[in-house]
Amino acid sequence: MTKITANVPLLDGVFEIAIDGEKIVAVTPSSTETDLYIGPTLFDIQVNGYGGVSCWDMTDPESGALAKISGMFLEQGVGLWIPTVITNHHEALLEIFTAIGKELDADPELEKSIPGLHLEGPYISKVNGPRGVHPLECVRPGSWDEFTQYQTASGGRIRYVTLAPEVDGNIDFIKKCVEAGVIVSIGHSDLDRESMNKAVEAGVSLSTHLGNGAHDMIQRHNNYIWYQLAARKTYAAFISDGQHLPSECMTAMIHAKGLERSVITSDCVGLGGMPAGIYGDVEKLPNGRLVATGTPNLAGSSSNLRECVEQVVNLTDLSHAQGWRLGSIQAAKAMGLPDKLGIEVGKEASITVYKRPDNDYKIDIVETWVAGKKLFAK
Ligand SMILES: [Zn+2]
Repeated sequence: MTKITANVPLLDGVFEIAIDGEKIVAVTPSSTETDLYIGPTLFDIQVNGYGGVSCWDMTDPESGALAKISGMFLEQGVGLWIPTVITNHHEALLEIFTAIGKELDADPELEKSIPGLHLEGPYISKVNGPRGVHPLECVRPGSWDEFTQYQTASGGRIRYVTLAPEVDGNIDFIKKCVEAGVIVSIGHSDLDRESMNKAVEAGVSLSTHLGNGAHDMIQRHNNYIWYQLAARKTYAAFISDGQHLPSECMTAMIHAKGLERSVITSDCVGLGGMPAGIYGDVEKLPNGRLVATGTPNLAGSSSNLRECVEQVVNLTDLSHAQGWRLGSIQAAKAMGLPDKLGIEVGKEASITVYKRPDNDYKIDIVETWVAGKKLFAK
């Protein structure tokens, strides 16, 4: 058994946490003074890549690509994450899911950090704006036959799909996913009120990067952002890297959706964790902003989830504890894994130990644990 004594912002006090096997077995109030903090480990539900590695072009199961990203995330206090595979041709998607499935089959320890996969597209809107940078020629209506092939190739690991409910046939596709236990999220969508209602009825339970993957200009009262903010039964994920949503917008959206229904994610790409510079079509500026080379246009997020927790606290009125919760427990709830994260007896001992220099929004990671194992120590 291991014991750690630390401030627990989620419980608003100092506690001694006892870990035995994969679980937390005791949480006891303590009068010890300490500069250590502890929280459920950070859980990033949307990761396109990191440290020069991308999830959307993984075709070699021997490359160790997922293990490489996982290792870099542990240093950032992110013990759990979901690789995202985006819109592509059918054969390419099949190849990628096969490769990812094989890497995870071969490494059960790695799989403890990766409790599922995310298929973002190709069943999204063709409309410019909502489609974002997903390649138009690969965008298509939902196909249960195709999806079943991806799910089989991945070893049944696709935990959620992002799609546009208004596309022909997609409401039936949503119903089939929900029946099969796959979470469906609205994203890259141009939906109207009727499609929103049908989607919720069919079992959609999440919105992907709400406020992004959208038109520059929309009708002020009747638009898909309000519809998704107003939905009381669904979660919404927000990219809180400080680049994708301005401070006021992020503050207003999170409060409109509610702290019990909001999640933060990085949506980071392969250039996350890489030095500033020009990488072909994309340039990473010294402040971390990714732009299409030579333009001011945003080309993805380069922040990890630890930085996104810092920024949601820095840029909104949320407390440190509230920001951490959006990046950990809330993510687990949205992913249908409510028992995975928490500083409570019986929860999985997937935790992050950290310090808060200056007691400000900044976070220094000290240790990251996944399922009772310390996988990173500074
Ligand atoms: Zn997207």
